[in-house]
Amino acid sequence: MLRPDGEQLLKEFSATAYPCQVTEIIPGVVYHVMGYGISNASFIIGKNTVILIDTLDCDYRAEALKAIIAEHTEKPVKTIIYTHGHPDHLGGAGVFSDSNPEIIAFAPSKPVLGRIDALQDVLNQRGIRQFGYELSDEEAISEGIGVREGIVQGKGRRAFLPPTTVYSEEKIIRDIDGIALELTAAPGETDDQILIWLPVQKVLCCGDNYYGCWPNLYPIRGSQYRDISAWVDTLDKLIAYQANYLLPGHTRPIIGANDVTDTLTNFRDAIDYVLTETLRCMNQGMTMDEVAEAVKLPEKWANLPYLGEFYGTVAWSVRGIYAGYVGWFDGNPTRLNPLPIRTRAEKTLALMGGIESVLSAISQALDNEEAQWALELADIIITADSTNKLALKFKAQGLISLARQEQSANGRHYYLACAKELLADL
Ligand SMILES: [Zn+2]
Repeated sequence: MLRPDGEQLLKEFSATAYPCQVTEIIPGVVYHVMGYGISNASFIIGKNTVILIDTLDCDYRAEALKAIIAEHTEKPVKTIIYTHGHPDHLGGAGVFSDSNPEIIAFAPSKPVLGRIDALQDVLNQRGIRQFGYELSDEEAISEGIGVREGIVQGKGRRAFLPPTTVYSEEKIIRDIDGIALELTAAPGETDDQILIWLPVQKVLCCGDNYYGCWPNLYPIRGSQYRDISAWVDTLDKLIAYQANYLLPGHTRPIIGANDVTDTLTNFRDAIDYVLTETLRCMNQGMTMDEVAEAVKLPEKWANLPYLGEFYGTVAWSVRGIYAGYVGWFDGNPTRLNPLPIRTRAEKTLALMGGIESVLSAISQALDNEEAQWALELADIIITADSTNKLALKFKAQGLISLARQEQSANGRHYYLACAKELLADL
C-alpha cells in the first residue's frame, strides 16, 4: 500500500515485529524462537528427544538455533516437522542430520500445474525482485515478515533435507516421545500447510496461515491461485482449538486464550471481508481495476497492529481473487482484441503532441510527486521506443519514488530492483 510515510512505517514495523527472542511457552517443554532467521522455529522437549518445528532459512541460522536448543537440553533432535514446504522454513534442516531425525511433512492437497518448470526463469526473476535479493540491507530494510534471509546476506546456504514421512491424510494423531500431537492439513498460504496442536499444553503451531501483518494472499512473484476461501475455513479451524498459545511461522507468538481468539477472529474476519466484498463487486460486473479501487479494509481492521500491509496488500489480494475466479478477461469487450501495444502507444503519443511533450509532462509529474502518473506516461514512450534513455531514466526515478511510499516490503523490493535493472542498462 502506498502512503507518504510508507518507508518509515516499514522501518518501524521491521524494528519491532520480530526481535531476537526465545520464549519459554511451557516451562521446560515448549519454546518459540523468533528473529534468528526470516522465519520462526519452535521446539518441544520430550522424555528423551527434541521435536523441532521448522528449521529457519539456512545452515548458518540453524546453527544458532541448534545452540539455543543446547542451552535448554542435551537431548538430540530426533523429529522435525515441516509446517509447509517453503524454503525459508526448511533451509536449516541439514544442520540436524547428525541426529538422524524422522522428518514429517504433509503432501499438497492439490497438484501443482503441469509444465510449471517451463516458467522457471521468469518465476526466478520475479522472486529475486520480490525478495530483494539484489538489494543491499539498507535498500531492502527487511523481508517484511522477518529479517533478511541468510543466503542474501552471505551468511550460510540452504541445507535441505527431504521429509522421511509424508502424510496424505486429513489428520494424524501421534505420540512422539511422550508428547501428544495432532497434525491437521490446513490449506491456505500453501496447499501443504499443516497445524500442529499439542492438546495437553493447548499450544497451536499455525505455520504461515497466520502471521502478524496482512498476508500474502497473492504473491507478486507469481503463483498458482491461493484458495482464500479454504484459507478462511482453515482460520475457523484455528479459532475452534481455543488455544492458550499460538506459535506462528513469522512474527510474535500470541499468549493467552483471549488474545489468541481475538487476534485470529479479526484476522479471519478481515480476510473474509476482502474475499466477500471482492466477489460481491465482481458479481456487479465491475472490472479488476474497479474492484481493486472499491474494496478497502475497514478502519477497525486496517488500524490493528497485526493487519498492517507490510507483506501482502489488500489491493493485490483483490486482484488475485479476481484472476483466481474468472481469469484474465475483465468483462469489458474493448479488451477482447486490443490494439497491438506499440500501435496504441504510437497513436497515443501522436495525440499527446509527440515524445518531447510527453517527456516534459513526465518531468513535471515527477516534480509534483505524481510518480505513478509519471510511470504510466513513461511506459507509453518505452512501448513505442524501448531505447528512449530519458524515458527509461524517468521510469527508474518514478520507481524509486514509489519504493519510498510502499509499505509492503515485497512491493518496495520490486520497485527498487526494477529501478536498479533499468539504471544498470542505461
Ligand atoms: Zn514463511
